[in-house]
Amino acid sequence: MTTTSPDVLIIGGGVAGLAAAVELTSHGHSILLIEQKQHLGGRTYSFRHPETGGEVDNGQHLLMGCYHATLRYLKMIGAENFVEVQDTMSVIFRAPDKSPVELKTNRLPAPLNVLWGLFGLSNLSFVNRLKLLRVGIDVMLKDPDTNRHLHSISVSQWLEELGQPEENRKYLWDIIAIGALNDSLEKVSAALFAKVIKTAFFGSRKNASMVIPKNGLSTVLVDKAIEFIEKRGGKILLNTSVERFHDSGFPPRRAGRIQDVVLSNGNKIQPTTVISAVPYFDIPRVFGEYNPLGMVFINEFESSPIVTLHLWFDAHFMKEKFCALLDSPIHWVFNKSMMYGNEDNGLMYLSLVVSGAHDLVEKEKEELVELGHNELKRFYPAASVSKIIHSLVIKEKRATFSPKVGIEQFRPSHKTSIENLFLAGDWTDTKLPATIEGAVQSGFECAGMAVKYLDQN
Ligand SMILES: Cc1cc2nc3c(=O)[nH]c(=O)nc-3n(C[C@H](O)[C@H](O)[C@H](O)COP(=O)(O)OP(=O)(O)OC[C@H]3O[C@@H](n4cnc5c(N)ncnc54)[C@H](O)[C@@H]3O)c2cc1C
Repeated sequence: MTTTSPDVLIIGGGVAGLAAAVELTSHGHSILLIEQKQHLGGRTYSFRHPETGGEVDNGQHLLMGCYHATLRYLKMIGAENFVEVQDTMSVIFRAPDKSPVELKTNRLPAPLNVLWGLFGLSNLSFVNRLKLLRVGIDVMLKDPDTNRHLHSISVSQWLEELGQPEENRKYLWDIIAIGALNDSLEKVSAALFAKVIKTAFFGSRKNASMVIPKNGLSTVLVDKAIEFIEKRGGKILLNTSVERFHDSGFPPRRAGRIQDVVLSNGNKIQPTTVISAVPYFDIPRVFGEYNPLGMVFINEFESSPIVTLHLWFDAHFMKEKFCALLDSPIHWVFNKSMMYGNEDNGLMYLSLVVSGAHDLVEKEKEELVELGHNELKRFYPAASVSKIIHSLVIKEKRATFSPKVGIEQFRPSHKTSIENLFLAGDWTDTKLPATIEGAVQSGFECAGMAVKYLDQN
């Protein structure tokens, strides 16, 4: 058994753990990052497709201009060129019974840029476009972080209270909300949706822009981070988890201090501080049955799935990078060939995304691929004469925690009752739904708290 004493032990190598490691090593601190799997990235990773040799994501991820922490992270690790930041927001909405419509903001300051875009939504009657303003005004007047009413109602109830007709929901709100919150709109918190709208549409003009990965997720978010961390002396151990903690206060509930940690490889670590960056469902396994953090509320969390259909066609019938499908069980289609700059050669590679996919997650691959192809035929007639050459279905059953009404009160803060233990991860109290941004933000914040602790001890 060997013993090492890093400044910070980081448990979990998703983007939250990576962001913490990047921030800490940039300040010259020694870190040990342990990851139970044999790859980093957690719920954001890519791999080589055996048949085409191309990069395939575990699921398409879209970022936005309001992802300030993530954009800072990408800049720090030197990966900002792996994403395309739209100058102004541009999203195409396709409905089977209508012509495609583009939600396009202009270069005016926010929120005028968004107002312009909303008034251009020709799928909605003029009166209904005016009704969209009620949502904007409500968001402007309320603080989604603290407004009790917003925290007590679902997105559906909120939209109803604000007099949003069926048309506004069908052609705008529902597709945005399911993408942002990843569960049934009858269930998810209005506060979190209001927060998304406020952050994206009421900050700077650029906040509303989409940020589109030009490479696989591991290239964008992980590989350069590994280089960054290792170059600054940080250590990363894969296939490694925590066996047990020894602490000055466990199991009593008074504040304790983690003293040493035995890893699954038998090594004993004596870190000055520990950052846990594991998802909520791994907390009991990491911290053991005595529940040192008093986390009985872990049971309040539920997961919501995302299903992604990766389809390679023999013809390039989709001419935009991505679009939303309205009135369809498939929510978004991403033209990965175009996104990766490969549209001129070979097969057309599409990723079809279904959020909050409770109804589809148990279906067989063949059924899902057929569903995807049939849906594409409804929106792109040329899909009828195009053949699927390869297909792959990835079901992420625990893609995100469900941001249901009331969950906010159970999201733990980054500080814990253990003085040298900090909690990061998309499920902690970030005031955002489960996103890369929330995860990175939490990683940076925990790193800041760890630095403060190191300075004082
Ligand atoms: C298909 C899909 C699509 C998504 N789309 C988007 C999107 O478009 N935009 C967006 O912003 N977000 C999206 N998300 C959400 C986003 O991926 C997550 O919010 C984010 O990746 C969470 O990062 P994290 O670091 O908090 O957790 P994770 O990524 O889960 O990382 C935690 C890590 O801890 C490791 N771990 C667990 N237990 C241990 C242990 N005992 N020892 C060591 N390591 C351990 C795990 O193996 C994992 O690697 C999507 C998610 C999925 C799955």
